[in-house]
Amino acid sequence: MRILPTKMNLNTLKESKLLELSSHFVGGNHVEFVSNRQFPVMEPRSGRKLATWHYATAEQVDLVVKTAKQAQKTWAGSTWMKRNEVLKKTAELLKTHCDDIAYWECLSNGKPISEAKADVLSCVDTFNFYSGIAHDLLGHHIPLDPSRYAYTRRLPIGVVAAIGAWNYPIQTCTWKTAPALACGNSIIYKPSPLSPVTALILGEILKTSGLPDGVFNVIQGDAETAQHLIQHRDVAKVSFTGSIPTGKKIMAACAERNIKPVTMELGGKSALIVFEDADVDSGVACAMMANFYSQGQVCSNASKVLVHKSVLKEFTEKLVEKTKELKIGDPLKAETQVGAHISEEHRARVEGYINGAINEGATKICGGDRIQVPGLDNGYYLSPCILTDITPNMTVYKEEIFGAVLLIIPFDTEEEAVRIANDTDMGLAAGLVTKDLAKSYRISEQLNAGNVYVNTFNDVSPLVPFGGIGESGFGRENGVAVLEHYTQLKSVFVNTGTCPNPF
Ligand code: NAD
Repeated sequence: MRILPTKMNLNTLKESKLLELSSHFVGGNHVEFVSNRQFPVMEPRSGRKLATWHYATAEQVDLVVKTAKQAQKTWAGSTWMKRNEVLKKTAELLKTHCDDIAYWECLSNGKPISEAKADVLSCVDTFNFYSGIAHDLLGHHIPLDPSRYAYTRRLPIGVVAAIGAWNYPIQTCTWKTAPALACGNSIIYKPSPLSPVTALILGEILKTSGLPDGVFNVIQGDAETAQHLIQHRDVAKVSFTGSIPTGKKIMAACAERNIKPVTMELGGKSALIVFEDADVDSGVACAMMANFYSQGQVCSNASKVLVHKSVLKEFTEKLVEKTKELKIGDPLKAETQVGAHISEEHRARVEGYINGAINEGATKICGGDRIQVPGLDNGYYLSPCILTDITPNMTVYKEEIFGAVLLIIPFDTEEEAVRIANDTDMGLAAGLVTKDLAKSYRISEQLNAGNVYVNTFNDVSPLVPFGGIGESGFGRENGVAVLEHYTQLKSVFVNTGTCPNPF
């Protein structure tokens, strides 16, 4: 392990040669792990290679787990005030350096800079929320009879291995890190190799905020590295965000050596229902919010947009007009609304869904074209696409597309809309647009999804639990609910007298 002599400087983040300096963050240091397996760090906006980094080996993973295990003991013994102070300071520093972190997020992910800034600010909220969570980590006192009582203690689990997807790099890392740290765990975060940069900046910020070395670590790796990490005996908990097929492999790996609890934040196939009484402009805004953020690469996106036949024509015309107005281009420009896809391969996958649907009988009424951005000719751009004439046998109807491909599906009755929305084994999100309060309550109850949005979509808050049901996973992130997943309960029975002899 080579410890890098030059520390990342938070005050010159944008100018610093960040990518030349660090690739892993272990024990409070930016370290270079050398292995015979390398990967390119790409810039989606230009298709340019930014750096070549190394995946961590099994031996290197072992070293990081040892470091995290040692550090966790100190952190678990720290007072609630110390944890509060570190998380609060982290929120402050994230806010101070928001623009520079967003710059790196935009560079390594391709999402518009305006969205990247909003993501960083959401991380500020998350750290602020968990800095004040100590009260929710208290146990209970349970009187049993005059001479007996029990009490419960809510304890950290130990070393958490967290594996992230590439679409919300700093937010995914924060959603796992902030509550895990608040609960007294240490954490080893493995970002996706497709967006591996900003977790390292979070490491530097946590260190500057006073987090003891080794409590937060970042290792770079692929499936092989992740499997070494997950199956390590000293990893006590796994939190995963990613696809359903990978989630299944991770669940199996969590039982391979020693049993460990796992949080599964997986893919979805969500629907948005625009009812006949909806404000059509509001319906169009919801549909765009539910499909075109981050180039459609959002887990909870509602690709199935169900529109009541009475408003179908007006809705479709307005949606197409607004979609064509979207500004596609260099994500670093403030006015850009649609940036680049994460990779050439992923753009081709999304195109494959569009072409496959057309072959199966769908009609493309807008978008789905490769866009050349001047000066960024090799960037992975694709215009947001709208398809109609969708039938339930089509692949786009059944599978998660994870791209800006919106399917308009007409319906007649409430029952029909709910049936189509629930016609999937996944259950991450669902939404509806209506002015009728009673209908919103009635339909929300019937939708099989972990998150339901009424007259909005993809809304998020650190106060509100987020997660799926069915194939979309289990466990929750955000809210007080997440504390269940980063702590374990101990029950202590106390007899204030002598132990009665039962024999
Ligand atoms: P992915 O499953 O390909 O990869 C996710 C992570 O798992 C990466 O870090 C990857 O390196 C690692 N990985 C891959 N194979 C592995 C294996 N065999 N064992 C252990 N780790 C392995 O997913 P992705 O393409 O990065 O992300 C897109 C998916 O993530 C979509 O399905 C999306 O819906 C989902 N997602 C879900 C949420 C949520 O909160 N529910 C949020 C974001 C993304």
